Amino acid sequence: MLRREAMNIGDAWLAARQVVDRLDARLLVEHVAACRHADLITDPRRALSADQFASLDALVRRRAGGEPLAYLLGCAPFHGLDFLVTPDVLIPRPETELLVELALERLQSLPGASVLDLGTGCGAVAVSIGHRCPAALVTAVDLSPAALAVASRNASRHAVDARFLAGDWYAPLGNDRFHLIAANPPYVAHGDPHLLHDGLPFEPQMALTDGVAGGDGLACIRIIVGGAAAHLVPGGWLLIEHGYDQAARVRHLLHREAFSEVASWPDLSGIERVSGGRRPSAG
Ligand code: GLN
Repeated sequence: MLRREAMNIGDAWLAARQVVDRLDARLLVEHVAACRHADLITDPRRALSADQFASLDALVRRRAGGEPLAYLLGCAPFHGLDFLVTPDVLIPRPETELLVELALERLQSLPGASVLDLGTGCGAVAVSIGHRCPAALVTAVDLSPAALAVASRNASRHAVDARFLAGDWYAPLGNDRFHLIAANPPYVAHGDPHLLHDGLPFEPQMALTDGVAGGDGLACIRIIVGGAAAHLVPGGWLLIEHGYDQAARVRHLLHREAFSEVASWPDLSGIERVSGGRRPSAG
């Protein structure tokens, strides 16, 4: 796909951007050549070895085939940190930063709080919280051992001390209770056409959809809301990310479980993206 004469980084960038998006092309060249944007500008004649060229050619083909850039680079930015990602984990999304912000606001007055991240994936939520709130005692759960391996590498990478447990939602937690539970569970309805676009077919489907044919995508959220009171201290917070049209239904689930201060918060696109509430103090 790329022509062989592109043997320096500048020409390689030029060639790659005929095939894929200009920024993606640049990031792929920087990745294979281990160079920076500034090198591409000031030293475009820097040589690209035959191996580097072959790697770039392969990555450009994969990108042109729709594979997400984050899997090709092996990392993705989230909440100001760089996270390792593999196809075993969902790529962290900017809207999930809202979940982290809401958690951090509540932890300001609770420095040594215990925090649970359910369905941690690459660990973006747990590690970001632990990084910004080092006194918090962070536990992260995921059903996928492969995802937990990535999450635990991300915790080490950012010097966050967190406990990682494999299992189905609350199952590995015994009677543990937390001051705050955050979750970005799978919530895209099974069969939703979005699952076929924007690189989603390359991501782990178990992280995107609850897999319930004909369902509303809320199966995991029902489990999380239903089990939360038994794992929250009185007054503890539950915060859940959900789909663009699910806020009212998630608030309804929270009210039904007698949560107080139930609310939804908009992401940067103005879409209600996180809903939550507190376990009542009494009971
Ligand atoms: N927001 C993601 C998407 O639409 C889905 C994340 C999730 O299911 N938790 O791609």
